[in-house]
Amino acid sequence: MASVVLIEDDVDIRRLVANGLAANGHDVESSNTALEGLELAVNTSPDLVVMDLGLPDLDGTELLRMIKAVSQVPVIVITARGADDVVVKTLDAGADDYLVKPFSVEQLEARTRAVLRRGSADGAASTLRVGGLKIDVAAREASLDGEPLDLSPKEFDLLRVITERAGTVVSKRELMAEVWREPYGGSDRTIDVHLSWLRNKLGESASEPRYIRTVHGVGVKLVDPKG
Ligand code: CA
Repeated sequence: MASVVLIEDDVDIRRLVANGLAANGHDVESSNTALEGLELAVNTSPDLVVMDLGLPDLDGTELLRMIKAVSQVPVIVITARGADDVVVKTLDAGADDYLVKPFSVEQLEARTRAVLRRGSADGAASTLRVGGLKIDVAAREASLDGEPLDLSPKEFDLLRVITERAGTVVSKRELMAEVWREPYGGSDRTIDVHLSWLRNKLGESASEPRYIRTVHGVGVKLVDPKG
């Protein structure tokens, strides 16, 4: 769970985003102007700022620069303008990620988790453990029953993403967004191939699963085989 400041003047989008974040367990404070949003971002020290670029009182890029000048908080920018120059300008101004309207609550949540994870990876090392599986996120090392696993970068990211959400189904679209950074495209086949390699390294297969369970038509779920 994270504390999020949302700065968005469109009532419908503000409600959609605030409800979506709250439904995923985040604590949201919202503002409909840039200056009030800046005040919230400074005074409440949130874990994340989600902000619209088209605000009534100040250019969004200016607001982004002001936030970044006074705070380390990660910022996800919402933009109606999908033009490449706007996106580039926004990223240059310090945005950690962006979403182009219209977007789904699932996309927002996937971006939110990814940005927060990048932030926490800069800090203390975190270790994920499920059954005999152990992942050192910062060192990018994984082991099974004490034996180091020799994983490719994509296999490691895939294992990390599903282990972070052990016990819940992670959809292929989320994997595409978080592991391959391609929320709108990519092929299921790519994921299937990497899953198959990963299973092989964990000493299991789709027909004899242990840690990685397929939920047909939805995605995959990591479980403790003895749990
Ligand atoms: Ca707006």
